[in-house]
Amino acid sequence: MTELLRKTAAELGELIAGREVSAAEVAQAHLDRIAEVEPKVNAFLHVNAETVLAQARAVDERIARGERLGPLAGVPVAHKDVFTTKDMPTTAGSKILEGWIPPYDATVTSRLREAGLVILGKTNLDEFAMGSSTENSAYGPTHNPWDLSRIPGGSSGGASAAVAAYEAPLSTGTDTGGSIRQPAAVTGIVGMKPTYGGSSRYGVIAFASSLDTPGPFARNVLDAALLHEAFSGHDVMDSTSIHAEVPAVVEAARQADIAGLRVGVVKEFGGEGYQPGVLARFREAVDLLESLGAKVVEVSCPSFAYALPAYYLIAPSECSSNLARFDAMRYGLRVGDDGTRSAEEVMALTRAAGFGPEVKRRIMLGTYALSSGYYDAYYGQAQKVRTLISRDFDAAFHQVDVLVSPTTPTTAFPIGERADDPMAMYLADLCTIPTNLAGNAAISVPCGLADEDGLPVGLQIMAPVLGDDRCYRVGAAVERALEDRWGGPLLAKAPAL
Ligand code: GLN
Repeated sequence: MTELLRKTAAELGELIAGREVSAAEVAQAHLDRIAEVEPKVNAFLHVNAETVLAQARAVDERIARGERLGPLAGVPVAHKDVFTTKDMPTTAGSKILEGWIPPYDATVTSRLREAGLVILGKTNLDEFAMGSSTENSAYGPTHNPWDLSRIPGGSSGGASAAVAAYEAPLSTGTDTGGSIRQPAAVTGIVGMKPTYGGSSRYGVIAFASSLDTPGPFARNVLDAALLHEAFSGHDVMDSTSIHAEVPAVVEAARQADIAGLRVGVVKEFGGEGYQPGVLARFREAVDLLESLGAKVVEVSCPSFAYALPAYYLIAPSECSSNLARFDAMRYGLRVGDDGTRSAEEVMALTRAAGFGPEVKRRIMLGTYALSSGYYDAYYGQAQKVRTLISRDFDAAFHQVDVLVSPTTPTTAFPIGERADDPMAMYLADLCTIPTNLAGNAAISVPCGLADEDGLPVGLQIMAPVLGDDRCYRVGAAVERALEDRWGGPLLAKAPAL
Protein backbone atom coordinates (compact mmCIF):
# COMPACT_ATOMS: atom_id res chain seq x y z
CA MET A 1 0.00 0.00 0.00
CA THR A 2 1.50 3.37 -0.98
CA GLU A 3 2.08 6.13 1.59
CA LEU A 4 -0.54 8.32 -0.09
CA LEU A 5 -3.30 5.92 0.94
CA ARG A 6 -2.45 6.24 4.62
CA LYS A 7 -2.67 10.04 4.62
CA THR A 8 -5.64 11.74 6.19
CA ALA A 9 -8.08 13.66 4.00
CA ALA A 10 -6.90 16.91 5.59
CA GLU A 11 -3.28 16.10 4.70
CA LEU A 12 -4.22 15.11 1.15
CA GLY A 13 -6.12 18.37 0.72
CA GLU A 14 -3.07 20.37 1.81
CA LEU A 15 -0.67 18.42 -0.40
CA ILE A 16 -2.94 18.89 -3.40
CA ALA A 17 -3.50 22.62 -2.73
CA GLY A 18 0.27 23.09 -2.36
CA ARG A 19 0.80 21.17 -5.62
CA GLU A 20 3.12 18.72 -3.87
CA VAL A 21 0.99 15.95 -5.30
CA SER A 22 -1.69 16.16 -7.97
CA ALA A 23 -5.32 15.22 -7.44
CA ALA A 24 -4.88 12.87 -10.40
CA GLU A 25 -2.05 10.97 -8.64
CA VAL A 26 -4.14 10.67 -5.48
CA ALA A 27 -7.13 9.44 -7.49
CA GLN A 28 -4.96 6.92 -9.36
CA ALA A 29 -3.53 5.55 -6.09
CA HIS A 30 -7.05 4.94 -4.82
CA LEU A 31 -8.21 3.41 -8.12
CA ASP A 32 -5.26 1.00 -7.91
CA ARG A 33 -6.17 0.09 -4.34
CA ILE A 34 -9.80 -0.45 -5.39
CA ALA A 35 -8.67 -2.78 -8.20
CA GLU A 36 -6.49 -4.68 -5.73
CA VAL A 37 -8.93 -5.26 -2.86
CA GLU A 38 -12.43 -5.07 -4.38
CA PRO A 39 -12.51 -8.78 -5.27
CA LYS A 40 -12.30 -9.43 -1.51
CA VAL A 41 -14.28 -6.51 -0.10
CA ASN A 42 -17.06 -5.68 -2.62
CA ALA A 43 -17.58 -2.18 -1.25
CA PHE A 44 -18.42 -0.57 -4.61
CA LEU A 45 -21.33 -1.07 -6.99
CA HIS A 46 -19.94 1.31 -9.59
CA VAL A 47 -16.48 2.75 -10.36
CA ASN A 48 -15.52 4.41 -13.63
CA ALA A 49 -11.80 5.19 -13.67
CA GLU A 50 -12.09 7.58 -16.61
CA THR A 51 -14.64 9.88 -14.99
CA VAL A 52 -12.71 9.72 -11.71
CA LEU A 53 -9.51 10.89 -13.39
CA ALA A 54 -11.37 13.54 -15.38
CA GLN A 55 -12.74 15.04 -12.14
CA ALA A 56 -9.27 14.97 -10.57
CA ARG A 57 -7.62 16.63 -13.57
CA ALA A 58 -10.25 19.36 -13.54
CA VAL A 59 -9.35 20.15 -9.92
CA ASP A 60 -5.63 20.16 -10.77
CA GLU A 61 -6.31 22.65 -13.56
CA ARG A 62 -8.28 24.95 -11.28
CA ILE A 63 -5.47 24.89 -8.73
CA ALA A 64 -2.88 25.54 -11.46
CA ARG A 65 -4.91 28.60 -12.51
CA GLY A 66 -4.56 29.89 -8.94
CA GLU A 67 -8.16 29.32 -7.85
CA ARG A 68 -8.59 28.99 -4.09
CA LEU A 69 -10.69 25.92 -3.38
CA GLY A 70 -11.96 24.33 -0.16
CA PRO A 71 -9.81 22.15 2.16
CA LEU A 72 -10.98 18.90 0.53
CA ALA A 73 -10.48 19.91 -3.11
CA GLY A 74 -9.00 16.97 -5.01
CA VAL A 75 -9.63 14.51 -2.16
CA PRO A 76 -11.40 11.29 -3.19
CA VAL A 77 -14.74 10.32 -1.66
CA ALA A 78 -16.82 7.13 -2.01
CA HIS A 79 -20.52 7.96 -2.38
CA LYS A 80 -23.33 5.76 -1.01
CA ASP A 81 -25.50 4.48 -3.84
CA VAL A 82 -28.62 6.01 -2.34
CA PHE A 83 -27.68 9.56 -3.44
CA THR A 84 -28.68 10.43 -6.99
CA THR A 85 -25.83 11.13 -9.41
CA LYS A 86 -26.58 12.30 -12.93
CA ASP A 87 -23.42 10.74 -14.41
CA MET A 88 -23.56 7.39 -12.59
CA PRO A 89 -26.19 4.70 -12.05
CA THR A 90 -28.11 4.87 -8.77
CA THR A 91 -29.59 1.59 -7.53
CA ALA A 92 -30.17 1.97 -3.77
CA GLY A 93 -28.96 -1.63 -3.67
CA SER A 94 -32.16 -2.78 -5.38
CA LYS A 95 -32.87 -4.70 -8.58
CA ILE A 96 -35.90 -2.49 -9.13
CA LEU A 97 -33.58 0.43 -9.98
CA GLU A 98 -31.02 -1.55 -11.96
CA GLY A 99 -29.70 0.53 -14.84
CA TRP A 100 -31.37 3.77 -13.72
CA ILE A 101 -29.32 6.89 -14.27
CA PRO A 102 -31.00 9.76 -12.44
CA PRO A 103 -31.64 12.99 -14.33
CA TYR A 104 -30.37 15.08 -11.41
CA ASP A 105 -27.79 15.24 -8.62
CA ALA A 106 -28.69 15.03 -4.93
CA THR A 107 -27.80 18.20 -3.03
CA VAL A 108 -25.08 16.26 -1.18
CA THR A 109 -23.70 15.13 -4.56
CA SER A 110 -23.63 18.63 -6.00
CA ARG A 111 -22.02 20.03 -2.85
CA LEU A 112 -19.28 17.37 -3.04
CA ARG A 113 -18.64 18.46 -6.62
CA GLU A 114 -18.66 22.18 -5.74
CA ALA A 115 -16.12 21.55 -2.95
CA GLY A 116 -13.88 19.84 -5.52
CA LEU A 117 -14.08 16.36 -4.03
CA VAL A 118 -13.42 13.56 -6.50
CA ILE A 119 -16.26 11.00 -6.47
CA LEU A 120 -14.64 7.56 -6.81
CA GLY A 121 -17.88 5.67 -7.32
CA LYS A 122 -21.02 4.42 -5.63
CA THR A 123 -20.93 2.15 -2.59
CA ASN A 124 -22.94 -0.93 -1.70
CA LEU A 125 -25.81 -0.85 0.81
CA ASP A 126 -28.71 -2.86 2.13
CA GLU A 127 -31.59 -2.53 -0.32
CA PHE A 128 -33.17 0.92 0.17
CA ALA A 129 -30.98 1.25 3.30
CA MET A 130 -33.00 -1.38 5.17
CA GLY A 131 -30.65 -3.52 7.20
CA SER A 132 -27.61 -3.63 9.46
CA SER A 133 -25.22 -5.86 7.52
CA THR A 134 -25.33 -5.01 3.78
CA GLU A 135 -26.48 -8.61 3.23
CA ASN A 136 -29.81 -7.21 1.97
CA SER A 137 -28.12 -5.70 -1.09
CA ALA A 138 -29.34 -7.21 -4.35
CA TYR A 139 -25.71 -7.08 -5.50
CA GLY A 140 -24.10 -9.35 -2.91
CA PRO A 141 -22.72 -8.60 0.56
CA THR A 142 -19.78 -6.36 1.40
CA HIS A 143 -17.05 -7.91 3.56
CA ASN A 144 -15.53 -6.38 6.69
CA PRO A 145 -11.84 -5.54 6.03
CA TRP A 146 -10.97 -6.68 9.59
CA ASP A 147 -12.29 -10.18 8.90
CA LEU A 148 -13.68 -10.93 5.46
CA SER A 149 -16.10 -13.54 6.83
CA ARG A 150 -17.90 -10.82 8.81
CA ILE A 151 -20.37 -8.04 8.02
CA PRO A 152 -19.18 -4.40 7.65
CA GLY A 153 -22.41 -3.15 9.24
CA GLY A 154 -25.25 -1.56 7.36
CA SER A 155 -26.97 -0.14 5.68
CA SER A 156 -23.92 1.98 4.69
CA GLY A 157 -21.62 -1.10 4.73
CA GLY A 158 -19.94 -0.35 1.41
CA ALA A 159 -19.13 3.14 2.69
CA SER A 160 -17.59 1.90 5.95
CA ALA A 161 -15.66 -0.94 4.27
CA ALA A 162 -14.26 1.36 1.54
CA VAL A 163 -12.77 3.70 4.16
CA ALA A 164 -11.57 0.90 6.47
CA ALA A 165 -9.92 -0.86 3.49
CA TYR A 166 -8.12 2.36 2.40
CA GLU A 167 -10.04 2.40 -0.87
CA ALA A 168 -11.15 5.96 -0.01
CA PRO A 169 -10.19 8.40 2.75
CA LEU A 170 -13.79 9.59 3.04
CA SER A 171 -17.28 8.34 2.27
CA THR A 172 -20.87 9.44 2.54
CA GLY A 173 -23.67 7.56 4.25
CA THR A 174 -27.23 7.94 5.43
CA ASP A 175 -28.45 7.17 8.93
CA THR A 176 -32.14 6.39 9.46
CA GLY A 177 -31.76 4.14 12.49
CA GLY A 178 -28.00 3.77 12.83
CA SER A 179 -26.76 3.15 9.31
CA ILE A 180 -23.71 5.40 9.67
CA ARG A 181 -22.79 4.87 13.32
CA GLN A 182 -23.17 1.08 13.42
CA PRO A 183 -21.05 0.39 10.28
CA ALA A 184 -18.42 2.86 11.56
CA ALA A 185 -18.30 1.08 14.93
CA VAL A 186 -17.86 -2.42 13.51
CA THR A 187 -15.14 -1.38 11.04
CA GLY A 188 -13.10 0.75 13.46
CA ILE A 189 -13.68 4.14 11.85
CA VAL A 190 -15.55 7.40 12.57
CA GLY A 191 -19.17 7.91 11.48
CA MET A 192 -21.45 10.85 12.25
CA LYS A 193 -25.22 11.26 12.13
CA PRO A 194 -25.84 15.00 11.96
CA THR A 195 -28.90 16.69 13.42
CA TYR A 196 -31.96 15.80 11.30
CA GLY A 197 -32.42 18.58 8.75
CA GLY A 198 -28.79 19.67 9.06
CA SER A 199 -27.90 17.84 5.83
CA SER A 200 -30.17 17.75 2.82
CA ARG A 201 -32.38 14.80 1.87
CA TYR A 202 -32.95 16.16 -1.65
CA GLY A 203 -31.94 13.38 -4.03
CA VAL A 204 -31.57 10.79 -1.28
CA ILE A 205 -33.77 7.86 -2.30
CA ALA A 206 -36.28 7.99 0.53
CA PHE A 207 -36.62 5.22 3.11
CA ALA A 208 -38.22 6.94 6.14
CA SER A 209 -38.37 10.65 5.42
CA SER A 210 -38.77 11.84 9.01
CA LEU A 211 -35.56 9.99 9.99
CA ASP A 212 -33.21 9.85 6.95
CA THR A 213 -30.03 11.89 7.57
CA PRO A 214 -26.92 12.07 5.34
CA GLY A 215 -23.58 12.11 7.15
CA PRO A 216 -19.84 11.46 6.79
CA PHE A 217 -17.45 8.54 7.36
CA ALA A 218 -13.69 9.02 7.80
CA ARG A 219 -10.69 7.43 9.47
CA ASN A 220 -10.41 10.28 11.98
CA VAL A 221 -12.64 12.87 13.61
CA LEU A 222 -11.23 15.97 11.88
CA ASP A 223 -11.67 14.44 8.42
CA ALA A 224 -15.28 13.57 9.26
CA ALA A 225 -15.86 17.17 10.36
CA LEU A 226 -14.37 18.54 7.13
CA LEU A 227 -16.67 16.35 5.04
CA HIS A 228 -19.65 17.18 7.26
CA GLU A 229 -19.03 20.88 6.69
CA ALA A 230 -18.54 20.41 2.95
CA PHE A 231 -22.02 19.01 2.26
CA SER A 232 -24.23 20.25 5.11
CA GLY A 233 -26.32 23.36 5.59
CA HIS A 234 -29.66 24.76 4.54
CA ASP A 235 -31.20 23.61 1.27
CA VAL A 236 -34.35 25.12 -0.21
CA MET A 237 -34.98 21.82 -2.03
CA ASP A 238 -35.62 19.94 1.25
CA SER A 239 -38.71 21.10 3.13
CA THR A 240 -37.37 19.80 6.46
CA SER A 241 -33.93 21.40 6.06
CA ILE A 242 -33.04 23.57 9.06
CA HIS A 243 -32.51 27.27 8.39
CA ALA A 244 -29.44 27.65 10.61
CA GLU A 245 -25.68 27.86 10.37
CA VAL A 246 -23.84 24.54 10.27
CA PRO A 247 -22.48 24.03 13.80
CA ALA A 248 -18.73 24.78 13.99
CA VAL A 249 -17.74 21.14 13.63
CA VAL A 250 -14.24 21.62 12.20
CA GLU A 251 -13.27 24.07 14.92
CA ALA A 252 -14.64 21.64 17.54
CA ALA A 253 -12.66 18.73 16.09
CA ARG A 254 -9.48 20.81 16.30
CA GLN A 255 -10.27 22.01 19.83
CA ALA A 256 -10.67 18.52 21.36
CA ASP A 257 -10.76 19.88 24.92
CA ILE A 258 -13.38 18.55 27.31
CA ALA A 259 -12.33 19.89 30.70
CA GLY A 260 -15.44 20.59 32.76
CA LEU A 261 -17.80 19.00 30.23
CA ARG A 262 -20.76 17.14 31.76
CA VAL A 263 -21.11 13.61 30.39
CA GLY A 264 -24.11 11.35 31.03
CA VAL A 265 -23.89 7.57 30.82
CA VAL A 266 -27.26 6.24 29.64
CA LYS A 267 -28.31 3.78 32.33
CA GLU A 268 -30.61 1.80 30.03
CA PHE A 269 -27.82 0.81 27.60
CA GLY A 270 -25.68 -2.11 28.74
CA GLY A 271 -26.20 -5.38 30.56
CA GLU A 272 -27.98 -8.37 29.08
CA GLY A 273 -27.46 -8.97 25.37
CA TYR A 274 -24.29 -6.87 25.24
CA GLN A 275 -20.96 -8.51 24.47
CA PRO A 276 -18.64 -8.38 27.52
CA GLY A 277 -15.73 -7.02 25.43
CA VAL A 278 -17.92 -4.18 24.18
CA LEU A 279 -18.95 -3.23 27.71
CA ALA A 280 -15.34 -3.44 28.94
CA ARG A 281 -14.08 -1.02 26.25
CA PHE A 282 -17.06 1.26 26.91
CA ARG A 283 -16.31 1.44 30.65
CA GLU A 284 -12.68 2.24 29.90
CA ALA A 285 -13.78 5.03 27.57
CA VAL A 286 -15.93 6.50 30.34
CA ASP A 287 -12.94 6.39 32.71
CA LEU A 288 -10.86 8.08 30.03
CA LEU A 289 -13.41 10.91 29.70
CA GLU A 290 -13.22 11.42 33.44
CA SER A 291 -9.41 11.47 33.35
CA LEU A 292 -9.60 14.16 30.63
CA GLY A 293 -11.55 16.40 32.99
CA ALA A 294 -15.17 15.54 32.19
CA LYS A 295 -17.73 15.21 34.99
CA VAL A 296 -19.45 11.87 34.51
CA VAL A 297 -22.89 11.02 35.91
CA GLU A 298 -25.42 8.30 35.24
CA VAL A 299 -28.59 9.45 33.47
CA SER A 300 -31.84 7.55 33.06
CA CYS A 301 -33.81 7.68 29.80
CA PRO A 302 -36.65 5.25 30.57
CA SER A 303 -38.45 5.56 27.21
CA PHE A 304 -35.38 4.44 25.26
CA ALA A 305 -36.49 0.87 26.01
CA TYR A 306 -39.40 1.39 23.57
CA ALA A 307 -37.35 3.03 20.81
CA LEU A 308 -36.74 -0.12 18.78
CA PRO A 309 -40.40 -1.23 18.58
CA ALA A 310 -41.52 2.34 17.85
CA TYR A 311 -38.92 2.63 15.08
CA TYR A 312 -40.09 -0.65 13.52
CA LEU A 313 -43.58 0.82 13.18
CA ILE A 314 -42.62 4.34 12.08
CA ALA A 315 -39.85 3.45 9.59
CA PRO A 316 -41.85 0.72 7.78
CA SER A 317 -44.93 2.97 7.70
CA GLU A 318 -43.00 5.72 5.97
CA CYS A 319 -41.25 3.22 3.70
CA SER A 320 -44.54 1.67 2.57
CA SER A 321 -45.60 5.10 1.38
CA ASN A 322 -42.22 6.14 -0.09
CA LEU A 323 -41.72 2.92 -2.04
CA ALA A 324 -45.13 3.18 -3.72
CA ARG A 325 -43.41 5.27 -6.41
CA PHE A 326 -41.64 2.17 -7.79
CA ASP A 327 -44.56 1.36 -10.02
CA ALA A 328 -42.77 -0.16 -13.05
CA MET A 329 -43.63 2.91 -15.11
CA ARG A 330 -41.13 5.52 -14.07
CA TYR A 331 -37.78 3.95 -13.18
CA GLY A 332 -35.52 0.98 -13.89
CA LEU A 333 -37.05 -2.47 -14.04
CA ARG A 334 -40.31 -3.40 -15.86
CA VAL A 335 -41.43 -7.03 -15.86
CA GLY A 336 -44.08 -8.71 -18.06
CA ASP A 337 -44.95 -5.72 -20.24
CA ASP A 338 -45.68 -7.81 -23.36
CA GLY A 339 -48.84 -6.05 -24.49
CA THR A 340 -51.19 -8.61 -22.96
CA ARG A 341 -51.12 -7.42 -19.36
CA SER A 342 -52.76 -4.52 -17.56
CA ALA A 343 -50.66 -1.80 -15.91
CA GLU A 344 -51.66 -3.23 -12.53
CA GLU A 345 -50.40 -6.70 -13.46
CA VAL A 346 -47.09 -5.30 -14.75
CA MET A 347 -46.74 -3.30 -11.56
CA ALA A 348 -47.36 -6.38 -9.38
CA LEU A 349 -44.94 -8.55 -11.38
CA THR A 350 -42.26 -5.84 -11.32
CA ARG A 351 -42.54 -5.22 -7.59
CA ALA A 352 -42.56 -8.97 -6.88
CA ALA A 353 -39.38 -9.45 -8.92
CA GLY A 354 -37.65 -6.17 -8.10
CA PHE A 355 -37.92 -5.94 -4.29
CA GLY A 356 -36.03 -8.28 -1.95
CA PRO A 357 -37.57 -10.07 1.06
CA GLU A 358 -36.66 -7.46 3.72
CA VAL A 359 -38.12 -4.62 1.67
CA LYS A 360 -41.33 -6.61 1.13
CA ARG A 361 -41.52 -7.39 4.86
CA ARG A 362 -41.27 -3.68 5.68
CA ILE A 363 -43.84 -2.63 3.06
CA MET A 364 -46.31 -5.18 4.50
CA LEU A 365 -45.59 -4.18 8.10
CA GLY A 366 -45.98 -0.49 7.30
CA THR A 367 -49.13 -0.96 5.25
CA TYR A 368 -50.64 -2.91 8.12
CA ALA A 369 -49.61 -0.36 10.76
CA LEU A 370 -51.22 2.44 8.72
CA SER A 371 -54.42 0.62 7.83
CA SER A 372 -57.71 1.93 9.15
CA GLY A 373 -58.61 0.33 12.44
CA TYR A 374 -54.98 -0.31 13.33
CA TYR A 375 -53.49 3.13 12.78
CA ASP A 376 -54.12 4.39 16.32
CA ALA A 377 -52.96 1.17 17.97
CA TYR A 378 -49.69 0.98 16.05
CA TYR A 379 -48.54 4.06 14.16
CA GLY A 380 -50.28 6.46 16.57
CA GLN A 381 -48.80 4.77 19.64
CA ALA A 382 -45.36 4.74 18.09
CA GLN A 383 -45.57 8.49 17.46
CA LYS A 384 -46.40 9.00 21.13
CA VAL A 385 -43.34 6.96 22.13
CA ARG A 386 -41.32 9.17 19.82
CA THR A 387 -42.42 12.22 21.80
CA LEU A 388 -41.49 10.52 25.08
CA ILE A 389 -38.02 9.76 23.73
CA SER A 390 -37.52 13.40 22.76
CA ARG A 391 -38.57 14.38 26.28
CA ASP A 392 -36.04 11.95 27.78
CA PHE A 393 -33.33 13.59 25.69
CA ASP A 394 -34.51 17.08 26.71
CA ALA A 395 -34.44 16.15 30.39
CA ALA A 396 -31.02 14.53 30.03
CA PHE A 397 -29.54 17.53 28.23
CA HIS A 398 -30.66 19.74 31.10
CA GLN A 399 -28.30 17.75 33.30
CA VAL A 400 -25.41 17.01 30.93
CA ASP A 401 -23.77 18.31 27.75
CA VAL A 402 -23.47 14.94 26.00
CA LEU A 403 -24.66 11.37 26.52
CA VAL A 404 -22.50 8.32 25.87
CA SER A 405 -23.15 4.63 25.23
CA PRO A 406 -21.68 1.76 23.26
CA THR A 407 -22.60 2.31 19.59
CA THR A 408 -23.65 -1.33 19.13
CA PRO A 409 -24.29 -4.21 21.55
CA THR A 410 -21.82 -6.50 19.73
CA THR A 411 -18.87 -6.40 17.35
CA ALA A 412 -19.21 -7.41 13.66
CA PHE A 413 -21.06 -10.72 13.39
CA PRO A 414 -20.37 -13.41 10.79
CA ILE A 415 -22.03 -13.03 7.38
CA GLY A 416 -25.12 -15.25 7.38
CA GLU A 417 -25.46 -15.47 11.17
CA ARG A 418 -28.50 -13.18 11.46
CA ALA A 419 -29.70 -13.29 7.85
CA ASP A 420 -32.75 -15.42 8.71
CA ASP A 421 -33.47 -13.77 12.03
CA PRO A 422 -34.82 -10.23 11.51
CA MET A 423 -35.18 -9.59 15.26
CA ALA A 424 -31.51 -10.38 15.90
CA MET A 425 -30.58 -8.11 12.98
CA TYR A 426 -32.74 -5.27 14.28
CA LEU A 427 -31.02 -5.42 17.68
CA ALA A 428 -27.78 -4.12 16.11
CA ASP A 429 -29.38 -0.65 16.27
CA LEU A 430 -30.60 -0.79 19.84
CA CYS A 431 -28.40 2.12 20.97
CA THR A 432 -28.53 4.25 17.83
CA ILE A 433 -32.29 4.47 17.16
CA PRO A 434 -33.35 6.88 19.95
CA THR A 435 -31.24 9.62 18.33
CA ASN A 436 -33.00 9.15 15.00
CA LEU A 437 -36.44 9.29 16.60
CA ALA A 438 -35.58 12.55 18.39
CA GLY A 439 -33.63 14.06 15.48
CA ASN A 440 -30.54 15.03 17.45
CA ALA A 441 -26.85 14.44 16.63
CA ALA A 442 -24.55 11.49 17.44
CA ILE A 443 -21.13 10.21 16.43
CA SER A 444 -19.34 6.87 16.73
CA VAL A 445 -15.58 6.83 17.33
CA PRO A 446 -13.34 3.77 17.78
CA CYS A 447 -12.63 2.92 21.43
CA GLY A 448 -10.65 -0.33 21.19
CA LEU A 449 -10.88 -4.01 20.34
CA ALA A 450 -13.07 -6.54 22.12
CA ASP A 451 -11.06 -9.19 23.99
CA GLU A 452 -13.15 -12.12 22.72
CA ASP A 453 -12.66 -11.55 18.99
CA GLY A 454 -10.16 -8.71 18.54
CA LEU A 455 -12.75 -6.70 16.59
CA PRO A 456 -13.41 -2.95 16.85
CA VAL A 457 -15.79 -1.40 19.36
CA GLY A 458 -17.43 2.02 18.92
CA LEU A 459 -18.18 4.71 21.48
CA GLN A 460 -21.37 6.66 20.74
CA ILE A 461 -21.49 10.33 21.77
CA MET A 462 -24.95 11.93 21.56
CA ALA A 463 -25.61 15.69 21.63
CA PRO A 464 -28.73 17.89 21.47
CA VAL A 465 -30.31 19.13 18.25
CA LEU A 466 -27.74 21.37 16.49
CA GLY A 467 -25.12 20.35 19.07
CA ASP A 468 -23.18 18.48 16.39
CA ASP A 469 -20.00 20.34 17.33
CA ARG A 470 -20.06 18.69 20.78
CA CYS A 471 -19.91 15.25 19.17
CA TYR A 472 -16.75 16.27 17.34
CA ARG A 473 -15.18 17.97 20.35
CA VAL A 474 -15.61 14.92 22.58
CA GLY A 475 -14.83 12.48 19.76
CA ALA A 476 -11.57 14.27 18.97
CA ALA A 477 -10.53 14.33 22.64
CA VAL A 478 -11.13 10.59 22.96
CA GLU A 479 -9.35 9.92 19.67
CA ARG A 480 -6.31 11.94 20.66
CA ALA A 481 -5.95 10.24 24.06
CA LEU A 482 -6.50 6.74 22.68
CA GLU A 483 -4.15 7.19 19.74
CA ASP A 484 -1.45 8.30 22.18
CA ARG A 485 -2.05 5.10 24.08
CA TRP A 486 -2.15 2.90 20.97
CA GLY A 487 0.68 4.69 19.18
CA GLY A 488 -1.55 5.47 16.18
CA PRO A 489 -5.05 4.88 14.84
CA LEU A 490 -6.95 1.72 15.79
CA LEU A 491 -7.19 0.81 12.11
CA ALA A 492 -3.41 0.27 12.03
CA LYS A 493 -4.10 -2.91 14.06
CA ALA A 494 -6.28 -4.40 11.29
CA PRO A 495 -4.72 -7.36 9.46
CA ALA A 496 -3.34 -6.51 6.01
CA LEU A 497 -5.75 -7.22 3.17
N1 GLN B 1 -30.71 -1.09 10.53
C1 GLN B 1 -31.81 -0.17 10.58
C2 GLN B 1 -32.89 -0.67 9.65
O1 GLN B 1 -32.77 -1.71 9.16
C3 GLN B 1 -31.35 1.21 10.23
C4 GLN B 1 -31.10 1.38 8.79
C5 GLN B 1 -30.68 2.78 8.43
O2 GLN B 1 -30.27 3.57 9.28
N2 GLN B 1 -30.82 3.10 7.16
O3 GLN B 1 -33.85 -0.02 9.43
